[in-house]
Amino acid sequence: MLTYGELIELRDKLTNGEIEIDFAQVQYWKDFKEGQRSWETKDWKERRSGFLKDKCEICSSADTLTIQHHSHPRKYSEYLRDITSEYTKEYINTKPEVDKGDLQRYIIQNYDYVPVPLCPNCKRSSLRERKKILPKYRCPVCHEEFDDTVIRSVDELISKFLENEDDVEARDKCFVSKDQWRNKHNLSNIRYWLQRGRAKTKDSKTIEREAFLLYLNDCIKYLSFEDTITACKKCAFNFDIKRMELCPNCKRFYKGLEYPTCIQCLPEEKREAALKIIEFGNDWRKMHEDLGID
Ligand SMILES: [Zn+2]
Ligand SMILES: [Zn+2]
Ligand SMILES: [Zn+2]
Repeated sequence: MLTYGELIELRDKLTNGEIEIDFAQVQYWKDFKEGQRSWETKDWKERRSGFLKDKCEICSSADTLTIQHHSHPRKYSEYLRDITSEYTKEYINTKPEVDKGDLQRYIIQNYDYVPVPLCPNCKRSSLRERKKILPKYRCPVCHEEFDDTVIRSVDELISKFLENEDDVEARDKCFVSKDQWRNKHNLSNIRYWLQRGRAKTKDSKTIEREAFLLYLNDCIKYLSFEDTITACKKCAFNFDIKRMELCPNCKRFYKGLEYPTCIQCLPEEKREAALKIIEFGNDWRKMHEDLGID
C-alpha cells in the first residue's frame, strides 16, 4: 500500500501529465492486497495517533477510542462504471445511429436468440397453449386456430426496430447474453451496449484516468482524517451499526441520526406517541417469540 504522502504525489503527477494512467495504476495496485485495508499500514497507524483525541467527542468517555469516518471511499470499479456511462451518453449524442450489419454481428457474437412464438396469420404474440383443446392455439387477436406458431428472424426484428424503435415486437427482451450473467435484452438495450463498448474503446485511457483520479481523491480524503471524529466504543457502535448518536439535549440517551432529540427529550404528547409505537413493537416481537416465528 502506498502511504498518504505517496498517494498525493501519485495523484499530482497523474493530474499534471508527468505520468501515464497505466504507470499510475501499476504503482498503485502493485502491492495492494485484496481485502487489506488502509488502517492496517504502519503509515496509517502513525498518522492516526496524531488525530486521535483523548476522549470521545460525543460523550466524553475514554473507553476504547476509535476514529469514526463520516464517509468511505467508493470502489474504483464504481467510478469506472459511472464515467463510462457519461462518455457513452456523449458518444450516443454525437453518433446516435448504428449500422444494421454491425448490430447483426454484435448480436451473433454476444447473444442467444430466444424467439417469441407468433400467430401465423396476423403475427401477434401473447399466445397461450390450450391444454385440452386442439388445435393447440387460438389467436386472441384474429381468432385463427393453429398448432404451429411462427417466429421472426433476427434480421426481420432488426429491420422493424430500425424503422420504428417503439415497435411492440422490437421491445421484447428475447436476446439472452452469452456471458455468465445471461441477461435478457431487447434491441434497444443491445444497441446501448454496442455503443457503450465503442465509447469505451474510443476513450478508454481518458475514462480510466478520470475514474482513477476520482478514486485517488477519495482515498486521499479518507486518509486525511478530514471528516472524522474520535468516538468511544459505545458511541462508535451506535453510530456505525445502529445509526444512532448521543442526544444533543440531554447528552444521556442515544437517538436515531434522523431525529433531532432522543425520545425522552421529545415534547410530552410526541413522547407518549413514540413510546406507544415502541411498546407495540415489543409486544409484537414477544408474540412472535412466543409463537416460535422469527
Ligand atoms: Zn462516547
Ligand atoms: Zn392472429
Ligand atoms: Zn435527550
